[in-house]
Amino acid sequence: MPIYQIKKEMCEVGHRIWIKGFCAGNEGNHSVRISEDRVLCTPTGLSKGFLTPEDMCLIDMDGKQVEVNAKGRKRTSEVLVHLAIYKKRADIKAVIHSHPPHATAFAIANIPLPEGLHPEAEVFLGKVRTAPYALPSTQALPDSITPLIGPETNTVLMGNHGSVSFSNTLIDTYYKLEILDAYCRILLLCKNIGKANVFTNDQMVDLLKVKQKFGFKDSRLACAPEGCIGEDNQPFLATFERTDSASCDCHGGEVEHATAAERQEEVLGATSRGMGGVDDPAFEAMVRTITEQIMAATGR
Ligand SMILES: [Zn+2]
Repeated sequence: MPIYQIKKEMCEVGHRIWIKGFCAGNEGNHSVRISEDRVLCTPTGLSKGFLTPEDMCLIDMDGKQVEVNAKGRKRTSEVLVHLAIYKKRADIKAVIHSHPPHATAFAIANIPLPEGLHPEAEVFLGKVRTAPYALPSTQALPDSITPLIGPETNTVLMGNHGSVSFSNTLIDTYYKLEILDAYCRILLLCKNIGKANVFTNDQMVDLLKVKQKFGFKDSRLACAPEGCIGEDNQPFLATFERTDSASCDCHGGEVEHATAAERQEEVLGATSRGMGGVDDPAFEAMVRTITEQIMAATGR
């Protein structure tokens, strides 16, 4: 693809990132590797929604700007993350660092992204890990991410910060970002509903086989029949208010549903606990008031 065309595509992707609310203000950055030692990247200090091809900066693999930018733009300060990924994986041609709100919420809560819940997330993202928090714009940030990048990885969450997506084209990298945030939004809606069905081992094996047919390798297929998928699900499911969904063993086991009577007892128990228990004066006063009302109503 001609260089100018790549720059235009970088503007288009930036606009979509901004429209989708993945980056506010001048947050985020993206890059495209155009040769073995040359990378085009977004400039620092600009909204991703208003980029022009002339804003893009050309750098080498050490992050040095190798061409004077016509508009005087300086490269993004987060270039170390991009270069670390290009150096680790020769097949990667584009990187997007972003702050997608729903995914970033998981990174801030330090809740691992659950798996075995949604086909698209499994096929197009696979296993997504979260790096520990590291200070932005320093070597600590790429150092926190690179150990989590294996041959199948395309997305990593940055602790208390955001996400980084990477693939062999800029458009595909953008898809990874969009799928990531859509998946996390769905997860948070499930939490609101209060329930999430985890795939059975057989369902997961079938799905990973389809993924393989699409040409995406996923090493979890080797252990999925024994139920290795979902060991990271507990911290997310434990945030559910309904205890029946949180009790899932994540290996496709049957979940026991509480009966209506049990649930009522649970709620009543929580209510009295919330008031400090039966010894609480407020609780005693409430019982006295209700008793008096019943006595009055029955004419005693
Ligand atoms: Zn950032």
